[in-house]
Amino acid sequence: MPRRYRSEYLKLAELPFIVEIGEGPRKKVREVLEKLELSNAIMLTGKSSYEAAGQKIQERISDYLINTFFVTKASMEEVRTVEFSISYEDVDSIVGVGGGKVLDIGKVLASELSVPFISIPTVASHDGIASPVASFKEGGKPLSISTRPPTAVLADLVILRYSPIRFLRSGYGDLISNITAVRDWKLARDKMDEEYNDIAASIAVMPANLMLSQAENLDLKQPSHLEMLIRGLILSGVAISIVGSSRPASGAEHKFSHALDYLGYGDATHGEQVGIGTIIMEYLHEKHYGEGSWERIKLSLEKIQAPTTAKELSLTKEQVVEALIYAKRIRKKRYTILEDTNPDKDEFELILTKTGIC
Ligand SMILES: [Zn+2]
Repeated sequence: MPRRYRSEYLKLAELPFIVEIGEGPRKKVREVLEKLELSNAIMLTGKSSYEAAGQKIQERISDYLINTFFVTKASMEEVRTVEFSISYEDVDSIVGVGGGKVLDIGKVLASELSVPFISIPTVASHDGIASPVASFKEGGKPLSISTRPPTAVLADLVILRYSPIRFLRSGYGDLISNITAVRDWKLARDKMDEEYNDIAASIAVMPANLMLSQAENLDLKQPSHLEMLIRGLILSGVAISIVGSSRPASGAEHKFSHALDYLGYGDATHGEQVGIGTIIMEYLHEKHYGEGSWERIKLSLEKIQAPTTAKELSLTKEQVVEALIYAKRIRKKRYTILEDTNPDKDEFELILTKTGIC
């Protein structure tokens, strides 16, 4: 008798129901609300996002909107402020028009209220556009919160094209970090017998490799390259949702970035920090396992004019070395090239000189 499949033998993952990337999704918010049979939405936005896109969206869905809130910081306090303001309203959906902070508050709020979240990014500086993770700052320290992924992602290239170029460059840094993140994941599979999912790994790493293969010609102002970047960042979020962990998109390069945040060093964005972290970790993978090319990672960052030196991040060599050593104290259970090869201060200093970071 053939064995019957039962759902517990399959992996169930929550993924966005609607994803649109192109020139026009911003006009489809009303259609999405109708399709999902939602009629009591609140909108979250930021000051510049409201001017760039929020106001028009607000007008388009005015009869579906209860209220619009302006988000200023990514913290639980902000979530509570909005929750308190809507306590007696029958909110059935949240529309987020903005950058990282707005989308992070939207994801947490929607998860707490168990309502759909519609993500309309106005900047694409990291993979939070579609991921089930919110990055908050509490007491000056970074904090990651697991959420449900957005129900719909409407990524409009017309809006994103006019976002500050620094944020797009940061988004590229966060996308290529998937290359070392997946190398670390494979190491953990081989050395620590960690569960590994090839589909999630491929989804995370393929768009990054595609962009890297065009390193010499990369230009984020070019529509096809911008689209490739946005699609890659959304796919990163999907990969995270599939495994229910940031593993496919966060390895040693992220530990380094989080270490800088914990230590309070520099003034860079998340994507700028992980971009430089990716050069360093790719160097280690190449040296110890003969995989990858740190020079190619660096070249691609240079081509899009993203920072590749500590100086551009307002960091001294001592601070970078300290953060690299501190990085092993972040997420200790996540096995990466740092735990595997255990570089000391002298080796880090040598890498930083050889890669031209400082
Ligand atoms: Zn990231």
